[in-house]
Amino acid sequence: MRPGSPALDRFRLLAAVLVVAVHTSPLTTYSVLGDFWLTRVLGRVAVPFFLMVTGYFLAEKGWRNTWTFWKKTALLYGLCILLYLPLNLYAGQLDGDFLRRLVTGGTFYHLWYFPGVLLGVPIAWCLRRLGLGIALSAAGLLYLIGLGGDSYYGLTAQVPELKAAYDVIFQVFSYTRNGLFYVPLFLLLGAAGRRFSRRASLWGLLLSFSAMSGEALWLRGLGVQRHDSMYLLLPLVMIFLFSALLGANRGEDRTARRLSALVYILHPWCIVLVRFGAGFLGMEERLVQNSLGHVCAVLALSFLASGALLALRPRRVSPTARAWREVDLDALAHNAAVLRGALSPGQELMAVVKADAYGHGAVPVCRRLRRAGVRAFAVACLAEGIALRRAGIRGTILILGYTPPEEAPLLARYRLTQTVADAAHGRALAEQGRTVHVHLALDTGMHRLGIPAGDREAIAALYRLPHLRIEGTFSHLCVSDSLAEADAAYTRRQTELFFDTVSWMREQGLNPGAIHLQASYGIWNLPPQPCAYARAGIALYGVRSDGAPVRRDLDLRPVLSLRARVASVQQLEPGEAAGYGLAFHAERETKLAVVTIGYGDGLPRELPQRGGEVLIRGRRCSMAGRMCMDQLLVDVTGLEEVSPGDIVTLIGRDGGQEIRAEELAERCGTITNELLSRLGSRLAWREP
Ligand SMILES: *Cc1c(COP(=O)(O)O)cnc(C)c1O
Repeated sequence: MRPGSPALDRFRLLAAVLVVAVHTSPLTTYSVLGDFWLTRVLGRVAVPFFLMVTGYFLAEKGWRNTWTFWKKTALLYGLCILLYLPLNLYAGQLDGDFLRRLVTGGTFYHLWYFPGVLLGVPIAWCLRRLGLGIALSAAGLLYLIGLGGDSYYGLTAQVPELKAAYDVIFQVFSYTRNGLFYVPLFLLLGAAGRRFSRRASLWGLLLSFSAMSGEALWLRGLGVQRHDSMYLLLPLVMIFLFSALLGANRGEDRTARRLSALVYILHPWCIVLVRFGAGFLGMEERLVQNSLGHVCAVLALSFLASGALLALRPRRVSPTARAWREVDLDALAHNAAVLRGALSPGQELMAVVKADAYGHGAVPVCRRLRRAGVRAFAVACLAEGIALRRAGIRGTILILGYTPPEEAPLLARYRLTQTVADAAHGRALAEQGRTVHVHLALDTGMHRLGIPAGDREAIAALYRLPHLRIEGTFSHLCVSDSLAEADAAYTRRQTELFFDTVSWMREQGLNPGAIHLQASYGIWNLPPQPCAYARAGIALYGVRSDGAPVRRDLDLRPVLSLRARVASVQQLEPGEAAGYGLAFHAERETKLAVVTIGYGDGLPRELPQRGGEVLIRGRRCSMAGRMCMDQLLVDVTGLEEVSPGDIVTLIGRDGGQEIRAEELAERCGTITNELLSRLGSRLAWREP
């Protein structure tokens, strides 16, 4: 799942209508110029839009599903070829050139899109491995070449050498609007997914589109177009259009997505059928000769046929999860933005995603944070770092914990940054003979990991080691969560020692690299610090460790909800008991709901005895008896309509009620960090 937007999906419908318009010229009866603007200028945003959406979603999944997507597209193209074979046959197009068109241009006029994607996606996939900047430049260059063979052909063809070059291209492709010159740029622009403010997007769209209209009219005036799909300003228009649509709220509209695809595929058949039907009914004047009537008839038939197919499609049942984490990635992105706003100017967020991002799912969390502009992550151990790299997460990944020195080759292979836990660790890492990127941990009083900040000789010695590339220096505060005077004083001493040491290093010419000190409570309770990073963990997930107050009130939103279902409802008579150890005694007539989650999913087993509650149908209900490994009991006496399948909320909102992770943690005498990071691997993962 990705942060889609219903606006993105709904615009597909409009884009499909535009494609139909391009193929039916709705305004010719009324205004040739108007029709030119509608079909050759406005209509030209439709296909780039489809391509950008494709690029956006491929990039969202780190391009890992590219091959699956390619195969699906090939299959769809195959079906379309079969679908349009009768028309090819009828139009006498099954000639010697058919095979060439099959590969380069599509066997029916609108089908060029499929071979375009089949060629363009692998090209974009290869290019983006060079980094998005280079990839975009290369694809931009290809687009410029294509431009010279499209609406600027009349100008380029005046240069004999260029004309000769384009003649070669046209031996292979019918148009330069194809998988090589046209498709990669829009795929990669979609992958970049640039997002401007709403105002900037709309103004940018208005201005660039007006300018492109001017460009198109100018070219039309010159009469130099070989074809009119590509304009110099089209990529700019698309960047702003896409940003405007992305800016809208989250979610998706699958029906719009499927409907638009079907309309796109079926409309040429509908054009033929309308012509045929109009002839049959003797309504040619209205439904064929009148351009607007024609388009309306084609659109109506296309949407009707597509809607009917959608309605007839067999429904796929998705398995209902037993118990799941519901992770609101938009809330996560919101928190990241709020936290960045609370840092000092130039300071960046290092997202702490250890322990599977505190139980939130490290891979989707990192992906979303990267989209939100976060470029540095911290994990606890080597395996966590490798898992992120394998999932395609780029940027700095700092391992906060100890890594055995002999793993230096793996650190290098996965470009992971290692914390130097102490002087001996630093020496051992350097002895492996591989260049290792490291951050120095300085112990300023926590006495966990770190080179004692006062041991200046040890620090200087690390800088003399070959193979150790020191890119950062940090320390960790151990009582910054407390506002008590003694603790605040301790934190001040740690902070001073850290900055004193960093200053001394700089004086000695020992470059400390990126420095960082604060974790979440350092952001909440300290004034902004002159650091390169702040390592935010729990705050990023929108909760505090416990209910204790903090200095700065930040508008953070909980990211995770924990939900399960009612499996069955039990009726108990007074005097009956339930569960292991018969720990629950019914004093009156009692209704118990059996809920599909237990300590095997990471819940603290003592929760029912500590007054644990859940939400069912927007009401708070108490847990009852002893928690089992996979199930627990909830007293739902008095709740009218509880039935199997009902959703049970253990953390999160339901109706007007909310159970916060802090509440659960406090009941069990722990902190949310522990509670969340223990959520088990058996829990399914979903977005709201
Ligand atoms: C876990 C950890 C963090 C994140 O702590 P939060 O309180 O969750 O923000 C930061 N730095 C280090 C060294 C850590 O181990």
